[in-house]
Amino acid sequence: MRCILCDNEMAVKNYEGTDIDVCENCGSVWLDKGELGKIINTKEVRFSLAQMEEAIKLSAVEHQARTALLKDIKSFKRDINIEELDNDQILRIFKKRWSIDRKLSCPKCTGMLEESDYSGVGVIIDKCPVGCGFWLDKGELDKVQIMMEYYNKAVASMKESEKSKLGLFDVISNIVKEIIPF
Ligand SMILES: [Zn+2]
Ligand SMILES: [Zn+2]
Repeated sequence: MRCILCDNEMAVKNYEGTDIDVCENCGSVWLDKGELGKIINTKEVRFSLAQMEEAIKLSAVEHQARTALLKDIKSFKRDINIEELDNDQILRIFKKRWSIDRKLSCPKCTGMLEESDYSGVGVIIDKCPVGCGFWLDKGELDKVQIMMEYYNKAVASMKESEKSKLGLFDVISNIVKEIIPF
């Protein structure tokens, strides 16, 4: 399989017990259907404090960008209720608003990859529209694992009643607010 960013031949590497496709030139990773969930649930790789701080900071930036984005969407489309939109819908409207598109094809089915906020934790990765898998740029596999770990911990410590009220992104926002003072 060739890297869709730099056309380098990708290598198959074992990561936490799963064979994944890695571009050794640009650091991109392709994960087939189900592999990302498996990796998130396997906690073999330990992240350093610096890596965790970096991931949370980036997520915080994402969170601030999201707030600015919602304001922008509201001025662009007055007739929509932004509370009813999910993260991926927000991203799609924003990209339409600013005509931003990376236009990457799925390495398996050549369908156009769509950007997606994985589980709403503020890490934007590319997913195949028909579910072949995920494309992750350099560093995103670490980021998504770190943020999902925080998210799962936060959810585990919440009461049932709180869980239904809060969206995934709210959980992360709370963690981010606790850790990084603005
Ligand atoms: Zn590459
Ligand atoms: Zn595909």
